[in-house]
Amino acid sequence: MLNSSDASAAIAESIPPFETEEVVLANAAGRVLRQAVCAERDQPPFDRVMMDGIAVNFSTLDGGRRKFRIAATQHAGDPGQTLGNPADCIEVMTGAVLPHGCDCVIPVERLAVTADFAEVDANYETQQYRFVHKQGTDFSEGQEVLAPGHTITPMDIAVIASCGLGSIQAGRLPVVRVISTGNELVAAGDPIEPHQIRLSNGPSLVAMLVRQGFTDCAHDHLVDDRQLLADRIAAHLAAADVLILSGGVSMGKADFVPQVLADLGVKKVFHKISQRPGKPMWFGLGPRKQAVFALPGNPVSTLVCCRQYVLPALHRASGRHTRASDLAVLDETVVFEPALTNFLPVRVHTDTDGVLRASPVRTNTSGDFAALSGTDGYVELARNTSEFKAGCLLPLHRWDTP
Ligand code: AMP
Ligand code: MG
Repeated sequence: MLNSSDASAAIAESIPPFETEEVVLANAAGRVLRQAVCAERDQPPFDRVMMDGIAVNFSTLDGGRRKFRIAATQHAGDPGQTLGNPADCIEVMTGAVLPHGCDCVIPVERLAVTADFAEVDANYETQQYRFVHKQGTDFSEGQEVLAPGHTITPMDIAVIASCGLGSIQAGRLPVVRVISTGNELVAAGDPIEPHQIRLSNGPSLVAMLVRQGFTDCAHDHLVDDRQLLADRIAAHLAAADVLILSGGVSMGKADFVPQVLADLGVKKVFHKISQRPGKPMWFGLGPRKQAVFALPGNPVSTLVCCRQYVLPALHRASGRHTRASDLAVLDETVVFEPALTNFLPVRVHTDTDGVLRASPVRTNTSGDFAALSGTDGYVELARNTSEFKAGCLLPLHRWDTP
C-alpha cells in the first residue's frame, strides 16, 4: 500500500498541467500567473507629491525664509511646472508631479495661506524630500514584480494594473464534476425516511473547491446501480477535466466505483493509502488524462482526502508554486498505534509567546463530520511513531490554505 507522500507524488506526476488562457484583470484575483509581470515604468513614475500644500526649494527654507510668494498651482495629472525663483513656492496637490526646482513639500496644515502668499508655521521643522515619494523607489522600469506561479491577490491586481496590463496569462480553470454515490443519500430539502442519510459530502466538496477558486464545479448524485454509474460517469468523463467521486470505493457489495471506472478506461494509478482517515482512496487517469479521484464516502475521510490530495493537485496543475506546510506545536500528547499516517483534526491558536499551537479535536469515527465544524485543519502524525508528545512540532494542513 502506498504511503501518503508517495500517493501525493504519484498524483502530481500523473496530472498534466492545465493549459494557459488569457484572463481580464477584473477576473484575475485567485488565478495562477503563467507569465512574469514586469514594470511598464518606474513606480512612482515621477517624484510624486504626497500632501496638499506647497513645494519649495529646501535650501531656501533651511536658509531661514518662512514666507513664500505663490508662483503657480500644480494639480495632479498636469505636466510638471518649474519654480523660476527659488524664493517662491508652488502650490501642490497630492498626486501631482513635484515641480522642477522644488525638493520639499510642506503640508497645508502647517501653513497660513493668503491669496498670494504661504507662510510656514514658525516652529515647523522638516528635511529635504519630506512628503515626496521619489521616482522609482517602489520598483524600476522593466523590473519583474510578479513571477509565474504566483496566485493573484487583490493587492496584486493593483500591481498588474500599474504595469499597464488589462489582462494576464493564467492557468485555465479545470472543469470539475463532483459525484456522490449511494442509495441511502437524500439531498437537503427532499423528504427523508428514517433509514436514509442526508447527502452532505457533495455540497461540502463543491464549497471547498469553489473557495479555492475552482468555480467550474457541479455536483451529481448517483445511486449504487452499476449500469447507471457507468452511463453517468461516462458522460461526466466526457465533459470534465477532473472527477471527484465520493463513496463506493471500499469492500462493500455495492462499492462498484473502482470496477466501473476501470470498465470506462480510467487507468488506476493507486487504490488505498496507508492513512487514517481515508485508507480506501482510489486515484486514476481517464482516456484524456482526466484526473479521477474516488474518495471514501465517510465524511471526515472525504474532506481530509480532498484537502490533502485533490486541492494541492489542482493547484499544481494550474501552475501554482507550492509552499511548505506550517509547523504547529501539539498541545497535548496523542497516542496512535496503527502503522498509518494519521490526519488529526485540530483547532489552532497563537499563544502569548507568538507560538502557533494545535489542539486536537477528536472525531467520533470518520463518520463524525460535526466535529470538523470549528476546526482549522489537521496535523499530520507520521506513520511509524505511536506516541506524539505534547510540545512536538507537526506539519499543519489548514482547510483554507493548501
Ligand atoms: P461508502 O464509502 O459508500 O461505503 O460510504 C461510507 C459512509 O459514508 C456511509 O455511512 C455513507 O452513508 C456515508 N456517505 C457516503 N457518501 C456520503 C455523502 N455524499 N454524504 C454523506 N454521507 C455519505
Ligand atoms: Mg456507498
